[in-house]
Amino acid sequence: MPISQLRDEPPTIKGRHHETRARGLRHFAGLTRDDQPLDPFELARYANLLVAPFEAVEGLTAETREHLLGPGSEMWSGGAASIALPNGQKLIILNPKHSTLRQRATLMEEISHVFLGHKPSRLAIEQKGADGQTRARDYNAAIEEEAYSTGAAALVPYVGLKGYVEQGKTSAEIAKHYGVSRPLVEYRIKVSRLWDSYKENIFRNSK
Ligand SMILES: [Zn+2]
Repeated sequence: MPISQLRDEPPTIKGRHHETRARGLRHFAGLTRDDQPLDPFELARYANLLVAPFEAVEGLTAETREHLLGPGSEMWSGGAASIALPNGQKLIILNPKHSTLRQRATLMEEISHVFLGHKPSRLAIEQKGADGQTRARDYNAAIEEEAYSTGAAALVPYVGLKGYVEQGKTSAEIAKHYGVSRPLVEYRIKVSRLWDSYKENIFRNSK
């Protein structure tokens, strides 16, 4: 029997689609177990992506810069340049005003875009809500969903998540373990259809 048939798989077709790709990313990052946290910054280096500081972006007026880091800061989380640098690296910028946890999730999504072969036609800017999920425009909603979902599954893989849920770990504990935000873990619990089990187990644990 192939090993894939012995693995515990997400219950939905969509979930399995994202999980398969996420597993590829984790494998690429050299991870062998589902309880290992993934460092997107390290993975970016393997994937030949250059995460440049915002200050390195040239050609912005002082006014634009102030807006992007000030009042406009909640409106964007990161971006990827469509044209590779002369050395073949692809450039990614992250919003320096966002927390490290948000930056990690954004970077993971950018890596997923590259890994999945999504081609931005320009400097693609990610717009996100406070929960970290992309508020995508209609024309690219499917692509954004695939990148976000794959990135989230790479950060919090199904088998590892299910194990912690069954142990009665809280979303905060799981988030801390994987180096992600609590909303990202809760999103993963929901799309993995583990929410009922999660509630039951943390309730049992708190008694
Ligand atoms: Zn995106």
